[in-house]
Amino acid sequence: MEILANYLEYICGVENVKRNEPLAQWTTFRVGGPAKYFVIVDDKSKLLKLLSALTYLEQPYFILGLGANVLASDDGFDGVVIKLNFQTIEQNDVFVYADAGAKLGAVVNYARQHGLSGLEWATGIPATVGGGVYMNCGAFGHSLSDVVVMVDMIEDGQVKTLTRDELAFGYRHSRFMEKPAVIIGAYLRLNKDEPAKIATRMQEIVEKRRRHPRQPSAGSVFKRPKDGFYVGQVIEELGLGGYTVGGAMVSPQHCNFIVNTGSATCRDILQVLYHLQDEVEKATGVLLETEIVFLGKVD
Ligand SMILES: Cc1cc2nc3c(=O)[nH]c(=O)nc-3n(C[C@H](O)[C@H](O)[C@H](O)COP(=O)(O)OP(=O)(O)OC[C@H]3O[C@@H](n4cnc5c(N)ncnc54)[C@H](O)[C@@H]3O)c2cc1C
Repeated sequence: MEILANYLEYICGVENVKRNEPLAQWTTFRVGGPAKYFVIVDDKSKLLKLLSALTYLEQPYFILGLGANVLASDDGFDGVVIKLNFQTIEQNDVFVYADAGAKLGAVVNYARQHGLSGLEWATGIPATVGGGVYMNCGAFGHSLSDVVVMVDMIEDGQVKTLTRDELAFGYRHSRFMEKPAVIIGAYLRLNKDEPAKIATRMQEIVEKRRRHPRQPSAGSVFKRPKDGFYVGQVIEELGLGGYTVGGAMVSPQHCNFIVNTGSATCRDILQVLYHLQDEVEKATGVLLETEIVFLGKVD
């Protein structure tokens, strides 16, 4: 165990490799056991070295953004969890470049300050730019793919730049779900507008989001299976709002959210999730697909 940590610290220059880091501290569900190794990387060249080393050493790794869409196993993760801490945001006319480790909220605010519109809908979505691009996060009829024009990434040990048409964007879908690569930054194309008007639209989104549950969660658990099929509404009509296992509960406020009422385990959340899948399938014939991503061994 120590040899790998020394390797990462000495050869890759990654400081402070943590051992047995509780994932519950790094996910918005606030559940998850220890990651064998946990590293925060603040430099792209170190990341490149680190990924090459981990591939060479055949060590599994997982890139974690804000952990806002991740359900981590109670048993943790037997590999290296990597958090990206480079966060530059830059502008050139209507184009904005943001590092993968930048918070999406910081990009939304930056755009407003620079009189650039097109991201107001993303106000309040907890995400990094990397996690947002991976998930193609979206809300209120918009998604990140509306504004992403190019993405820098590391794949097979090389830095590459892909254009939007190469990124296989769809509803909560991107190329990164099919072919693993690490997103290091994204270029967005926005539109000029007055900061005050942008701020007003952002405030409207803040008001709409006030109705969302406040307890720890990972947002919507299931994807919308087809147009007009509103998962939360279907679950509510089945009377499953408030359904509870241990510390995990279907939020009565928004039934596509499972919330941690304080002491939930990954197992509790999974039991609720499977129950919802069963009941919805029995009632509608539709098997719901999860939007959330699993980290570690989950069954
Ligand atoms: C209260 C709440 C409200 C939410 N509302 C919305 C909403 O309105 N719309 C919506 O779409 N989502 C919503 N979500 C879900 C979540 O915010 C999004 O899925 C977001 O995109 C996750 O970003 P993240 O940085 O936290 O990624 P994580 O959850 O940390 O990771 C998600 C996936 O992205 C991968 N990943 C992360 N960074 C990189 C990278 N640099 N390179 C390659 N892969 C990477 C991870 O490995 C993982 O597979 C909500 C969540 C919460 C808790």
